[in-house]
Amino acid sequence: RKQTEISAAEMVDAILSGDRTILSRAITLIESNAGRHKKTAEEILQSLLPRAGKSVRIGITGVPGAGKSTFIESFGLLLCNKGHRVAVLAVDPSSTVHGGSILGDKTRMEQLAKHPNAFIRPSPSGGTLGGVHRKTRETMIACEAAGYDVLLIETVGVGQSEVLVRGMVDFFMLLVLTGAGDELQGMKKGIMELADAVIVNKADGRNLELAKKTQREYKQILHFLQPATQGWTTPALTCSALFKQGIEEIWEMVLRYIEVTKASGLFQENRKMQAKEWLYALIKEELESAFFGDEKVKSLVPGIEKKVMDEEITVTKASGLLFDAFYDRLC
Ligand code: GDP
Repeated sequence: RKQTEISAAEMVDAILSGDRTILSRAITLIESNAGRHKKTAEEILQSLLPRAGKSVRIGITGVPGAGKSTFIESFGLLLCNKGHRVAVLAVDPSSTVHGGSILGDKTRMEQLAKHPNAFIRPSPSGGTLGGVHRKTRETMIACEAAGYDVLLIETVGVGQSEVLVRGMVDFFMLLVLTGAGDELQGMKKGIMELADAVIVNKADGRNLELAKKTQREYKQILHFLQPATQGWTTPALTCSALFKQGIEEIWEMVLRYIEVTKASGLFQENRKMQAKEWLYALIKEELESAFFGDEKVKSLVPGIEKKVMDEEITVTKASGLLFDAFYDRLC
């Protein structure tokens, strides 16, 4: 049957029964920027929400080449073989600019993609980073309701997207390479302070010793930083994503983290705070698009912008004029 013939309720039933094709279609609706899809997507999400939330949400970041996709393939396969159901999503800041996608390349995670317990979704494209963020959060809900109990959210380590992903996961890991000295120079301390674990990847072959050295360097640095999560000492580990070494230990560490934070109540507290922050982020985003999408505002913007640049009026005055026009339209 064609997509248009399936009602929201039917889609919900299919998703709950584990139908991956329908899950994909629902995510396409969620990701759609078309107004007519919004209502259906909302209806679906509202029905799915009570069935969501029972997963472990793990964020994975690192510079391009750090080995994120190789790691996700190994880590994901390990979990699938343990009987977990793993969904892989991505927040890709670059896809908002040129339409490319870190998960778009079909050759990535080839084995994992074939596993019956895995679901890999390319990153949503189009819109602002905030828009992509919304889509990812809602896609997470759909995946959880579909029975995926481990969500892996990948993002390229370039700054803003890490903060967004940190705000939607339970555990955030930073994948790094050897030669910490050089890398740390360029790496913002802030990114390390977001991480619940630093993983030195490619600890294999001739690189092994160097990886151990790098691990020690990271340990030292982490010692002086504020841990990302209260009551959890951010560890530095090594692994070889390619040769599947140290991967099991990473999962054990995640399980330990969950145990510790659930016992302290922080796990649940974090999720509540994240939901609250998500609400305000969404409100801000909606307000912004309502404001800048308003016809009257749009018509005034170029002239007012010019006056500001020519220093004819103050910025406060300018934004006041635009808001007056906006509020007028609301009344
Ligand atoms: P991403 O850009 O972070 O997703 O990195 P990729 O997973 O695409 O890996 C970049 C390159 O590093 C690829 O050529 C991988 O085969 C290689 N690579 C990834 N993990 C390892 C590892 O553990 N050991 C070694 N030796 N190479 C690795």
